[in-house]
Amino acid sequence: MKICRVEANHLENIPITPPPARKEPSRGEMTIVEVETDSGIVGCGVVGGGGGTPWQVTVEFINRYVGPFLVGQDPVLTERLWNQMVRQFARRPTGMWASVVGAMDVALWDIKGKVAGQPLWQLIGGTRDKVPAYVSFGLGGPNTSASQYPAYTRDELVEEAKHLVTQGHTRLKTVVGRWEIPDPDEDAARMAAIRDVVGPHVWLMMDAGSNMTLHDALRLCKLCEPLHITFFEEPVHANDPRTLAALRKQTTIPLAANPSGFRVAYRELLLQEAVDIVQPNVATIGYTESIAVANMAQAFNVPICNGNGSGPHNIHLQAGMPNGWLLEFHYHNWQTYEAIFQDTPRPSKGWTAPLNRPGLGLDPKVGVIKEFRKLPR
Ligand SMILES: [Mg+2]
Repeated sequence: MKICRVEANHLENIPITPPPARKEPSRGEMTIVEVETDSGIVGCGVVGGGGGTPWQVTVEFINRYVGPFLVGQDPVLTERLWNQMVRQFARRPTGMWASVVGAMDVALWDIKGKVAGQPLWQLIGGTRDKVPAYVSFGLGGPNTSASQYPAYTRDELVEEAKHLVTQGHTRLKTVVGRWEIPDPDEDAARMAAIRDVVGPHVWLMMDAGSNMTLHDALRLCKLCEPLHITFFEEPVHANDPRTLAALRKQTTIPLAANPSGFRVAYRELLLQEAVDIVQPNVATIGYTESIAVANMAQAFNVPICNGNGSGPHNIHLQAGMPNGWLLEFHYHNWQTYEAIFQDTPRPSKGWTAPLNRPGLGLDPKVGVIKEFRKLPR
């Protein structure tokens, strides 16, 4: 079997259901890659976490360089192709370069599962057939990727949390750590207000998007320790292992991070005992590399969990690996998946399950790529 077509498209202006407390965003976007084989099988991946790279650059990079490199190759030789792509396109494995080879690798693993006739989570180990799921909410303001929207007021946050709990969600994450005018006391007050309204049994997590100094992150931790926070994601600048390790020594709140780079970046977090949880994301480093990271973390008795979106593409990693744990449903991103794919995993009462279809099970709706794609000018 050979790869005969690779095509990347950026989809935008996709109508989505806005978050409970807001009228915006009502439109989503996604950069999607398709890899087609001469046997008619199509694998599909998404490009995540490009670090602000304009989509035109990503789409052109794939369609002009990475795609032609893959055409003619056997798609199921994932380890070989991963290593070839990294050497050719991502020797400095960060940002868009890493995300692009990651997206290609996801599409190749999708094909591999479809060829085997098995859902990917089974193919990579099949540890569990359901996965605990959390919803990320209150996304807005300068601390998130949704920064074109104003930060939530405390009242809006509380309203949204209440709504999600009423819908049966039992695990929630929100954002802290605004970078222009840091205010850990206000962040803590917001977390306390959410804890108040959701009660003692809902899991609560916070994500600083690597925006905080050690001093501010430590202050926030001390104020939030009584609130029973399940984990604190990306607390400090650049996910620096040294700073994370210093923070971790001084707080009882478990720390999680998703560093830039491949397995060596994760090894550093583990060796320096900087985190309690590592967060490989297949939309930024692919399945081949995420499986390696998960196995390495297992040797340190550290679980993995999903952060930074693309939950439905990550579900097979969390279900397949022995140290798999939580899957994220980032509100805007989740609604975009609903709009684009024929079927997608959904969170229900704190749990989700992989679709029982070969490969990733995530195939775009017929005509959706043509309808929403933007052509580079
Ligand atoms: Mg995050």
